[in-house]
Amino acid sequence: MKTTVILCGKLFTAEDETVRSDMAVVVEDNLIKTVMPAAEVSTDGAELIDLSGCFVMPGLIDGHMHCTSNGDTKDAGYENAAESTINGYLNLQKDLMAGFTTIRDEGCSNFEDVALKKAINAGRISGPRMITSGKTITATGGHADTRYPFETDPGTIGALVVDSPDEARKAARTIFKFGADQVKFMGTGGVMSLGDEPGAPELTFDEMKAALEIVNSRGRMSSVHAHGAEGMKIAMRAGIHSIEHGMLMDDEAIDMMAETGTYLIPTIIAAKAIVDNGVESGINPENVEKAAMCLRNHYTNLKKCYEKGVKICFGTDAGTPGNWHGMQTREFALMTEAGLPPVYVLQAATCRNAELVRMSECIGSLTPGKFADIVAVPANPLDDMSVMNDVCFVMKDGVVYKQ
Ligand SMILES: [Zn+2]
Repeated sequence: MKTTVILCGKLFTAEDETVRSDMAVVVEDNLIKTVMPAAEVSTDGAELIDLSGCFVMPGLIDGHMHCTSNGDTKDAGYENAAESTINGYLNLQKDLMAGFTTIRDEGCSNFEDVALKKAINAGRISGPRMITSGKTITATGGHADTRYPFETDPGTIGALVVDSPDEARKAARTIFKFGADQVKFMGTGGVMSLGDEPGAPELTFDEMKAALEIVNSRGRMSSVHAHGAEGMKIAMRAGIHSIEHGMLMDDEAIDMMAETGTYLIPTIIAAKAIVDNGVESGINPENVEKAAMCLRNHYTNLKKCYEKGVKICFGTDAGTPGNWHGMQTREFALMTEAGLPPVYVLQAATCRNAELVRMSECIGSLTPGKFADIVAVPANPLDDMSVMNDVCFVMKDGVVYKQ
């Protein structure tokens, strides 16, 4: 058995809102054994890691990203499966180095996330723990229906395209057959698709309900890309687990999220990166306009969500234009700019996201018995969230990847 003692100048376990000084975390093999005052810890026979100048916290969880997408601002999304698998591998290394020891992939084109997850779990490659979506489900012409007008081969597109409840049911079954953990729906139009409306629903209630019967009867998770309020409500009535983006929500949608306990992943950085990089970077003007429109009321709505008790999680959509892997920690500062308390934001990326991905018993806080997923930053992020961009120590499952 290998014992590691980590000395922590400041320690945030995420079990509560407190930050404690001069603590020690004792790790045995891949698990957290104890958390105690540094003055009382025995280092006999243990490997010592001195983070006494740092702020130590649980490994970060990105609840929404796309490992196979690079963040390119032009000509993105036309890689074949082999190329995008390599992209996925490289992006996951950047995510891990940025402190993300767990990620939920919100959809890729060819089940590359499933292959990468298998390789990581088998110890063949390094990378974060993964929750996978494989292909997403969309409607003809919906977000992620990436066919050119003349294409008919469904094998080449990013999503499974459905236009009836039966097709939706079959798509959900197909996604599980090919090994994904959850089903991701494209409930409304999007920012980076051309010719659709972020505010308008795409999948119908009957289609979502049919697919969600398959998902929920298997006890699996689901998420829906939904900007418009109506699309959010349709998904919630159909029994969705989490809403992604929600940038055009209204008060009724906020109340419904609060009442049903539906998680919200606001992905502020996804829209902000498109607006900030702009047309000059090669992004289509239509997409930049849609991102600006989506961002307009997002901060105000998020504050309302917080006040009404909506469970706001942390997700970045890393891989979208200008939203590069390894730099998605910028979302921490954006969430606090929106008026969410800093400690609430840290918990969004740790214990609340662990609850989101139904892994609270093993990740999300520095609690004895949980996996030793531990990161550190050089200063207290509760004073200045930008230090989350400088993760200086990463341990996943008891193995140090960055020090
Ligand atoms: Zn996404």
